Amino acid sequence: MGFSDFQGNPDTVRRLREMLARDHFPHGVIFTGPRGAGKYTLAQMVSKTMNCLERPQTDGLPDFCGRCSNCERIAQADALDERFDEAVEARENLRDTDKKETRILIQTFPDALVIPPDPPQMLVKVDQVRHVTGNIYYRPAEGRQKTYIFPESNFMKEAANALLKVLEEPPDYATLFLLAENSNALLPTIRSRCITLHLAPLPLEEIEADLAYRVEWNAAQKKLVARLSGGALGRARRFDLAGYVASRKDVLTLLQTALSSADHGTLFRATESYRAGAEGKEKTDQLIATFYIVLEDLLFLKHGTAELVRNIDIQNELAAMASSVSFQWISSAVDRLGEVQSGMRRNLLRSLSLDALEAALEV
Ligand SMILES: [Zn+2]
Repeated sequence: MGFSDFQGNPDTVRRLREMLARDHFPHGVIFTGPRGAGKYTLAQMVSKTMNCLERPQTDGLPDFCGRCSNCERIAQADALDERFDEAVEARENLRDTDKKETRILIQTFPDALVIPPDPPQMLVKVDQVRHVTGNIYYRPAEGRQKTYIFPESNFMKEAANALLKVLEEPPDYATLFLLAENSNALLPTIRSRCITLHLAPLPLEEIEADLAYRVEWNAAQKKLVARLSGGALGRARRFDLAGYVASRKDVLTLLQTALSSADHGTLFRATESYRAGAEGKEKTDQLIATFYIVLEDLLFLKHGTAELVRNIDIQNELAAMASSVSFQWISSAVDRLGEVQSGMRRNLLRSLSLDALEAALEV
């Protein structure tokens, strides 16, 4: 276990490890890159290296053992989604008065804090940053360095200002990691106090090769997942192919019904299964996300850039569809989809809004 487990972006990883080898690691580090590119994994690896009790070296550079008690405790936060769900659930179970004052924080090791965006707005709030300010000026309790990871840099304004104050006067032993798809999400004054490292998407062949362990997928399915993950390994590994294909089938039914004024029976049976409630919402969210990808593919085909198409397994079907719609139609379909999304936020009946969507798309 160690940095050798990290796939891709070898130059960035080396640069980080060279900085770890020197005494002064930057106090603010921004990792940019697509969702699933490994930003959080890498920040966790740096945090382990800073606090590993074994302090191994590989290729002449600092590494972490992954087995000592510090590495193990930090690693408990590797499963970020699970820890996040637990923290949210724990808050849900509090009394209302306490609920308001409890911010979502993840701490599995005294000197490593993860500060996820706070639901339901999914923004980092000023109280969360205040927690950092109140804690960062105490020397590490058990480790050598203190690390603070913000997995998504969506800060409320006040929170961003509070963060800036910390970055202006950080203690020697602390590093803040700000992870973002795009560094524009952060204030220029914050960016100027951090070093920014970009994690580029991996070549699709590398992702396909990594998916070798998914024995249930054939070569074409691995290729499809690599494309749909946009070069982000984490997304590829977590990809729910069966769910995606089911959802895409419904998108195609909806499109075919709209474009051929075909019998509405099939469509009705498909949309009927999109019920209200949490399960229905998840299903509808996935349908909408899939719909956007299909529409984008139709655009690629119309623009003559077929090499960018992601749904490669149904490319012929999509090409036929692309030739029967106009740019104008695609653009209004995107608008209608946006309306369904905002309708969902207002809790309109889902099956109803999907049928309305189909009607609006008829040519
Ligand atoms: Zn260790």
